[in-house]
Amino acid sequence: MVLIAAGSPLDWHESKQYLDWVKRAGIEQFVHFYKKITTEKKSKWMEILRWGDELEGILVEFDHENKRVKLVLESSEKLKEMNDRGYGNIFTLEFGKFMIECVPQKPYKGLINHINTVESNMRERRTLLAEILKPNQYYLWYPTFPLLGCPNITIPDSRADFESNQENSMSVFISDDVIYSSHPRFRTLAKNIRKRRGSKVAINIPVFKDKNTPLPFKQPNIPEWDDGDSKEHALVDHVYGDAMAFGMGSCALQITFQAQSAEEACKLYDQLAILTPILMALSASTPIFNGYLIDEDCRWNIIAQSVDDRNPEERGETSQKQGDIGVIPKSRYSSIDMYISEKHQCFNDTNVPTNEPLRQHMLQQGIPENIANHVAHLFIRDPLAIYKEMVTGKAAEPENYISHTNHFENINSTNWQSMRFKLPPPDSNIGWRVEFRSLDVQATEFENAAFAGFIVLLSRVILTYDLNLLIPMSKLEENFANASKRNAVLDGKFWFVSSLKCEDGKCCYFMGPDSSMGNELEQEKAGAQSSEEASKKCCCDKMDINTIMNGSESGFKGLIPMLKDYLNGMEDIDYLTRCSLSSYFSLLSKRASGELLTWASWMRKFVQDHPEYKQDSVVTEKMTYDLMWRYTRIVTGQLEDDSILFKLKNSSQSDVSKAQTVAQDRLEGCECNDD
Ligand code: ADP
Ligand code: MG
Ligand code: MG
Repeated sequence: MVLIAAGSPLDWHESKQYLDWVKRAGIEQFVHFYKKITTEKKSKWMEILRWGDELEGILVEFDHENKRVKLVLESSEKLKEMNDRGYGNIFTLEFGKFMIECVPQKPYKGLINHINTVESNMRERRTLLAEILKPNQYYLWYPTFPLLGCPNITIPDSRADFESNQENSMSVFISDDVIYSSHPRFRTLAKNIRKRRGSKVAINIPVFKDKNTPLPFKQPNIPEWDDGDSKEHALVDHVYGDAMAFGMGSCALQITFQAQSAEEACKLYDQLAILTPILMALSASTPIFNGYLIDEDCRWNIIAQSVDDRNPEERGETSQKQGDIGVIPKSRYSSIDMYISEKHQCFNDTNVPTNEPLRQHMLQQGIPENIANHVAHLFIRDPLAIYKEMVTGKAAEPENYISHTNHFENINSTNWQSMRFKLPPPDSNIGWRVEFRSLDVQATEFENAAFAGFIVLLSRVILTYDLNLLIPMSKLEENFANASKRNAVLDGKFWFVSSLKCEDGKCCYFMGPDSSMGNELEQEKAGAQSSEEASKKCCCDKMDINTIMNGSESGFKGLIPMLKDYLNGMEDIDYLTRCSLSSYFSLLSKRASGELLTWASWMRKFVQDHPEYKQDSVVTEKMTYDLMWRYTRIVTGQLEDDSILFKLKNSSQSDVSKAQTVAQDRLEGCECNDD
């Protein structure tokens, strides 16, 4: 994760005088750096495929005697211990004091065979951490702790009460004690988001209306000492929350890819953005919020509202004051607003506010318009955590900040969008990267590796064959809004290109089993039309996710068959890698068809079938214990549940050379097939 260096964070009222200065300095840094990076000779390491995952997880402890499970607020201690053991670059802090994020020690490299090291790498991380946990403690990849917001759910106990909770979030549900405290960033963000907004954040998610759910539903457990803010903002028929921790305390799987150049990064950003809602629906694992079943399946809308720092004018709730940016349609945590590539600008059909003076400045400085548009739209947001040391004294002199990117990153890294365009860090061997950010984290390394492998393979097809998945931005917005809905994976309909084509718009079916890909492509490209014409030809249909992933009898190829064709055309893939990829495809394919449940459906069903459930949407402590214990036993392999996962073949290997050797040895005996 990007961590702005620590220092003395300024309170919001002190920050105000520096907001414009930081944004201006951020743009100066960006311009300086963009010119430098696009003119200087780059290290070859910056131009090859490197990629990595980030897995966020929670620390829990089971009390089997009393049938309770609680969050363990010990991430600082655990991180220190992992650091002492030499794993400081694998495990890192996150917003919650009960959270730990882990990444591979080094990014993966570009061979297809490297995909087969991912699952093993993830398993190793989980095992390493398990070694330092106390009995009955687990590190789980679990998106949102179901009872977050309810009393008695942390070790040590923490309480939201009037005296102790006045500082940061002012939540009536969650104590600020759950926020990571050994770094000032998170508390400062929580406090300044609230202050900038002018009131506490208000998260409202439609309640799942079951047979006995009291209607109209009104969030019941708002304490008497609430100053009126919660009662005012809790919407009817919604489950309500009022703290950043509800969202930033949830866990994602994120994947970052390096591109050859800024242009290639733009292309990947745009194309992969199309998949963010589709794969999010397939990863859905969040049907419970603040102790209630909700009518959504993903964590996304919870987080988006949990860090929404827009003031009433920006939210369009009061009349516009002069001089403001105007109404800002979405939270700074949201799906992307615009495609970046120059040739995709014609797909940007929504109104997106931009910081016009800064955009003009970038244009005057020679930044390409498409890039300037993207950056200027990020820079409508204010910096939320400003450290005094960075805006005063020598650090505030241009010659001292111009060759850094800290002010730029202050804004870029707090635009939490479904994709992120990442600048090469100064003085590093790291190039342009894009990050895929919409997924709910999955329970097992197998599933997380399946999503990661699918996305990295798709990115290769996009680049190698110029695959074009673009649809107008307004349609992508619609898809994203639909993707979190309950059972979107089976019931939802999503705009998607009606056939899989290349960017030149011509070659519709480029990877049939009989076609020799290369030649056909060359021929098609020879007759390529202009990109404008190609984009005009973009036709899309509404499809279900099963069709998008698995194809249809009426002729839509489907992403999984396409990727299988792609792999079949490659020779240098070892057998075990093929086995793993085949089971990854199988998982995603079966989720898309409904043969396997999503974790959200599995959890919802578990609650609804629980003897303690009264069909009133309430999730109790005992249900949560039973649910999470079953989940844990599935993750640790003590239990099989074929509604959610099939029996695993476990062909992932810890490194590529081993994978290849083992593949040679086992070539004869392996029982993998291609379903
Ligand atoms: P974030 O800013 O999203 O919190 P980081 O930049 O710290 O994340 O790392 C995210 C992921 O990027 C990690 O999985 C890491 O392995 C991976 N990564 C590191 N270097 C590169 C690189 N050169 N290219 C692609 N991915 C990389
Ligand atoms: Mg990340
Ligand atoms: Mg993170």
